Amino acid sequence: MRRIFPGSITAYSQFGHLKIPKNVKTVCPECRKKVEFLLKSTYQSNKHGLMTESICPSCKQSIPFIIITNEKDIQPDVYIYDPKTSTHPLNQIEHLPRIPEELVRAYRSAVSVHHSKENTATAVLAKRVIENILRHFLAEKSQSLTLEQQFESLPENINLVKPVSSLSMLMAPEGALHRMLELETELDDEMAELIMDLLENMIQYLFVLPGKIEMTHDHIEKKLN
Ligand SMILES: [Zn+2]
Repeated sequence: MRRIFPGSITAYSQFGHLKIPKNVKTVCPECRKKVEFLLKSTYQSNKHGLMTESICPSCKQSIPFIIITNEKDIQPDVYIYDPKTSTHPLNQIEHLPRIPEELVRAYRSAVSVHHSKENTATAVLAKRVIENILRHFLAEKSQSLTLEQQFESLPENINLVKPVSSLSMLMAPEGALHRMLELETELDDEMAELIMDLLENMIQYLFVLPGKIEMTHDHIEKKLN
């Protein structure tokens, strides 16, 4: 599911007391082109919201839209079904550059055996995924080290700061982005969406992911004690 922000909704229709999007300008999950979707007004509705579809004007595929309504809000939350941007890593890793094929295969197998509740196989494949991740970042000679030692040397081999520090260039006072943020120049819909993506990614990287890793670490320790 990918959230559609109000800036991408170009027309609404009234549905009871709610404003329901009628036209949505966004990237098509199938052909990845930026198009304007005209949402069908034949909704399937239940107490949580509405489901409808729209045909992509470019590739002619039917794309599902989900509209979650909330008693308090006139403006509902709108989502487009876009499995490639789903937060499950399996859907994401295939589309990212620089991920070793063997790691993708090992992770896919781990997810699959875990789904079939084969715990021994899950352990074997989980270890293979961890080894693959470490091998990607560590030099050849580290492979003779134990997993513990490999984890210890990991921080010297990954530049975790780079994705954040490289943003400083975008924020240069004379730069176009900084001038948009200072309201000196106007922000178009596409740029507004990119800025929202940047916020989301920064929050994920700096707060959500480190927090989730720590929480899982704590849960594992509690379970082991
Ligand atoms: Zn399309």
